[in-house]
Amino acid sequence: MLLCPACGGVLDAHYDENQIRAAAELTRILSRAPTVWRWAEFLPVREEKFHVDLGAGGSPLLPCPRLSEWVGAGRVYVKFEGMQPTHSLKDRSFAVAVAKAAELGIGCGLTYSSGNAAASFAAHANRAGLRGVVLVDSWANAAKLAMVRSYGCPVVLLDWDDFRDVEAMMAQACGVLGIFTFVNFQNPWRHEGYKTYAFENWLDLGRRAPDHEIHPVGTGGGIFGAWKGYRDLTMLGWSDRIPRLYGTQPAACSSVVAAFEQGAAEATAQGDPHATIAEAIANNVPIDAGRRPLRAVRCTGGRMLAISDDEMREGIRQLAREGICAEPAGASAVCAAQKLAQAGLIHAGEAVVCTVTASGVKQPGVALPPGSPPRIRASFPDLKRVLQEVGC
Ligand SMILES: *Cc1c(COP(=O)(O)O)cnc(C)c1O
Repeated sequence: MLLCPACGGVLDAHYDENQIRAAAELTRILSRAPTVWRWAEFLPVREEKFHVDLGAGGSPLLPCPRLSEWVGAGRVYVKFEGMQPTHSLKDRSFAVAVAKAAELGIGCGLTYSSGNAAASFAAHANRAGLRGVVLVDSWANAAKLAMVRSYGCPVVLLDWDDFRDVEAMMAQACGVLGIFTFVNFQNPWRHEGYKTYAFENWLDLGRRAPDHEIHPVGTGGGIFGAWKGYRDLTMLGWSDRIPRLYGTQPAACSSVVAAFEQGAAEATAQGDPHATIAEAIANNVPIDAGRRPLRAVRCTGGRMLAISDDEMREGIRQLAREGICAEPAGASAVCAAQKLAQAGLIHAGEAVVCTVTASGVKQPGVALPPGSPPRIRASFPDLKRVLQEVGC
């Protein structure tokens, strides 16, 4: 139903370019609220009454001077996805995929998640009146699990060692039982929502695509969707270029990085997904063997980068200095920017967009300062003393 009936492979949405050319009008687009639905002409849902709207999309693109200095080259911007309705990028894709399911008349759906997708699916399914069932990693942290469960949908805890077992199980749920599934790429509509990254970044940079854009890679839906969005913009002649796209993975399990370096078209399983703090992007091999993120980085002249846990903790601290609270997976983007600058791949004045994919509230306490804060009773002398101690 959602996979190719002939070969079982993943599908991709294609559009009638002439129809987009005829329908997409920037003044009308800009007159709409800044959600993913502002860009409806580029998305696969035909009728507005099926749009599912919790406000997904429209996150801020924050210029970050302190971060630029730390990175060492270029003008660094953070696309901060912690501002989404369930505090991660997933809302862009579930707004679209759940709306598409509603348009297709689907009443019930299933997804797998390490935590963020589950919350986003539950939220958007509830909003649309769809019955959602979620499978969540049994090791999902308490904050993520509590948020998922708060939506009241059926939650099943899932154990797995090899991610290909999850991929095969979900393909069978869809192919054998006919259940509508929402795993990225196995569901062909999820990554369409991520096209909106490209439209928003292009708009916020003064109708100009950035020079470089970095995205953490779990399945690669985010980076692949962004690439599709930039291709739409060049197809329309609205942008004269596509940014170099770079993907990050945790050093502990970086199968797509290895494939990139070997010049391979697909990744082979490697590493330990339990051996990193970047739980949102941890797998031994992504869905569809990482073919799509590999194409996105290769075709744009970008690359894949492995980021260690210590580097991500430092990335979280550097983002905090800009007032941005990041989940480790999201922080990996700024670490990659620094590595690219050190390798001489970012030049003075170039715009670098780091996609910080989720809020730190999704995985609290990962990079706290040492020690614990002083504690006082409500008395002025005590307050005066601690203020002196902290130097204020
Ligand atoms: C899901 C997720 C990603 C990766 O997105 P993909 O589309 O699977 O590549 C990155 N960061 C966070 C915080 C996520 O939840």
